[in-house]
Amino acid sequence: MKSYRKVLTFNIKSRRAFINITPQIEECLKESGIKEGLLLCNPMHITSSVFINDDEGGLHRDFEAFLEKLAPEKPYSQYHHNGYEDNADAHLKRTIMGREAVVAVTGGKLDFGTWEQIFYGEFDGMRPKRVLVKIIGE
Ligand code: ZN
Repeated sequence: MKSYRKVLTFNIKSRRAFINITPQIEECLKESGIKEGLLLCNPMHITSSVFINDDEGGLHRDFEAFLEKLAPEKPYSQYHHNGYEDNADAHLKRTIMGREAVVAVTGGKLDFGTWEQIFYGEFDGMRPKRVLVKIIGE
């Protein structure tokens, strides 16, 4: 069995954003040489997400509105977590959007449904954040 590990770094210039990272993940898969197996992708931080969904701008604005309704960023004072930090909403948003994506690898490709794409969801940006890519198989 082959094993591949890579850490990607994203430095998003805003507090929140959704970035389609599918091209970078496909590059990792190519580099790994693995044809059959499983790919895991997760942020190494607790205020960002990796998730699979549609690359459609309207939906991304809907996610933003939905998450702001559930866990509004402000006022910062509404959260117990916000003492030295102001990112309680980011922890909550990440919990809703999930930690990781796992994708089957078949014939050297990501075995996606028609509209599936992998996104990095940033909820507390403006600093470098790491995303782990682990692929196992043969
Ligand atoms: Zn925090």
